[in-house]
Amino acid sequence: MEEKKIPYKTYLDESEIPTKWYNVRADMKNKPAPLLNPGTLQPMTAEELYPVFCEELVAQELNNTDAYIDIPEEIQTFYKMYRPSPLIRAYFLEKALDTPAKIYYKFEGNNTSGSHKLNSAIAQAYYAKKQGLKGVTTETGAGQWGTALSMACSYFGLDCKVYMVKVSYEQKPFRREVMRTYGASVTPSPSTSTAVGRKILEDHPGTTGSLGCAISEAVEVATTTEGYRYVLGSVLNQVLLHQSVIGLESKAALDKLGVKPDIIIGCAGGGSNLGGLIAPFMGQKLRGEADYRIIAVEPASCPSFTRGKFAYDFCDTGMVCPLAKMYTLGSGFIPSANHAGGLRYHGMSSTLSQLYHDGLMEATSVEQTSVFEAAEQFARVEGILPAPESSHAIRVAIDEALKCKETGEEKTILFGLTGTGYFDMVAYEKFNDGVMSDYIPTDEDLQKGFDGLPKFPGNV
Ligand SMILES: *Cc1c(COP(=O)(O)O)cnc(C)c1O
Repeated sequence: MEEKKIPYKTYLDESEIPTKWYNVRADMKNKPAPLLNPGTLQPMTAEELYPVFCEELVAQELNNTDAYIDIPEEIQTFYKMYRPSPLIRAYFLEKALDTPAKIYYKFEGNNTSGSHKLNSAIAQAYYAKKQGLKGVTTETGAGQWGTALSMACSYFGLDCKVYMVKVSYEQKPFRREVMRTYGASVTPSPSTSTAVGRKILEDHPGTTGSLGCAISEAVEVATTTEGYRYVLGSVLNQVLLHQSVIGLESKAALDKLGVKPDIIIGCAGGGSNLGGLIAPFMGQKLRGEADYRIIAVEPASCPSFTRGKFAYDFCDTGMVCPLAKMYTLGSGFIPSANHAGGLRYHGMSSTLSQLYHDGLMEATSVEQTSVFEAAEQFARVEGILPAPESSHAIRVAIDEALKCKETGEEKTILFGLTGTGYFDMVAYEKFNDGVMSDYIPTDEDLQKGFDGLPKFPGNV
């Protein structure tokens, strides 16, 4: 009966939007391994990172000690444009599944970029502006990050050059136009406009591209253009830090309702939304204050956690970036072209990789047709058309709720609904037409990626 009181949607008050980000690394006993200089194999110093990244972001990247970092006033103000985001009780889905489980989701799709990526884009654009830069370069896969960054750059009057994975550039012309509407320039990657792009095209003629390729191109342009730096929308510690706003809001809303989740589920591409969603919960777990089951969900076609190696690897295909220790499929790994959109990155956040390695979270992989089945079921009952990436989390949330139906357990499930899928209708069309296929790489496919891992003592 108590139950009836939980509202469909819980919004925090505007004044309750977090004013500090939470840095989970401060509470980790085993810190994520440092970025290494690929030439010397020594940890990258701040000075070595300055040619690539904005200075304040470098400080955040290397900060393993401060648990809370102030959100600058200007960023707090921008957050008010679209935050707080709602925490939604999935009553309709629970009913459709006939499950005793209680399902909640944090919806981050309620802004024009359509995903959580704006939370970090606005922070990165702010620090670039503060440093007096002219502009930034970046890569985008499915297009959400490029869109979010375009919005953030236009807000601060910065130029924005986006390298977009070619397959998405072709499949998602409307995404591209949103970015151009916000003033960004968009180049399909790999392109002939950079040395590294030309090299990749020579080695892999006809390639549909990958995030790893696009990163190499964007970094090259940033480091060779005066007044520009490179920004990245996932994977990095700083991005997980900015995304902690998702978890902090979720936890504050759940605390208000007097609800404690048993299971927390998120999709994992490079790990930023999941890292952000779980941050305060993981903090409690690390400090021994509470326990949660935390599940990362990745596509079976790009299974970094579940089939990757925990090793130092390049963050990009062109091998121009520092080495990061992470669960990786190898920087040369390019997911099958039949895989729809996001979650295509070969590696994983080094923070999440360390937490996974230490047994503090689980990971599972799912096939794309089952992901779209979950997406469709969700859309039909909850009303929101989910992004394919987000639907990986929906799949596992549904599966866990169905397990509760079998056992009669009333578990509380929280998952991250990272975005909307309006620009993913080519993939939905394939699913609706029954021509969507699943591709699971063979061990031999994966071995090719592993063969390219950097070889040095203690690595592979
Ligand atoms: C980018 C993106 C993801 C995956 O990126 P993470 O860094 O792993 O969060 C998931 N969902 C949506 C909607 C995205 O745009």
